[in-house]
Amino acid sequence: MEKARENLNHYLEMEEILNRFFTLFDYCLKDCVLPELHRNGNQPFAACCKNRYYKIYDLDEPAFHLLRQEREALYGTPEEVKDSSLVSPCEYHTNTGCLLPTHKSPICLAFMCRKSIDALRETYGIYTYDYLGFNYALEWILTGDMTETQYHEFKESCLEMIAILKAS
Ligand code: SF4
Ligand code: SF4
Repeated sequence: MEKARENLNHYLEMEEILNRFFTLFDYCLKDCVLPELHRNGNQPFAACCKNRYYKIYDLDEPAFHLLRQEREALYGTPEEVKDSSLVSPCEYHTNTGCLLPTHKSPICLAFMCRKSIDALRETYGIYTYDYLGFNYALEWILTGDMTETQYHEFKESCLEMIAILKAS
């Protein structure tokens, strides 16, 4: 299989695992977005999506290009998004949040703000989530700089976090 395709498949597998982790953690909507909407009278807001993060840190590498091509084939180009919210420069940000359930860029997928990381630590005793470290790990999967062994260790560590959330 073409190397970029193989790297992207690994990345998408990790995205699916991280999406499961974030769904179980369920912090952003419940503890950030809904309280803010309640406070500001239901005015849409950008939360942490304050730039075009779907591209600004992307690398000029084949798997990053493939990621973008597949994202645009599935969800449209940024210019094609009809209901972009004006509160964020990111065209994929709508009034109901990010339009991309998959094929996010590494920084969008990995990002957790300080308060959400603190909640993960205090509520579940999970201290292993370092968002920059996760961002670089996801980048290395796409560039092919992560070895198979490192990939399986990374995947296992994410599955362990999921197991902790499920057991709580
Ligand atoms: S990462 Fe932080 S700022 Fe962004 S939506 Fe979640 S809680 Fe809010
Ligand atoms: S692509 Fe999605 S997660 Fe990334 S900045 Fe835009 S709205 Fe936020």
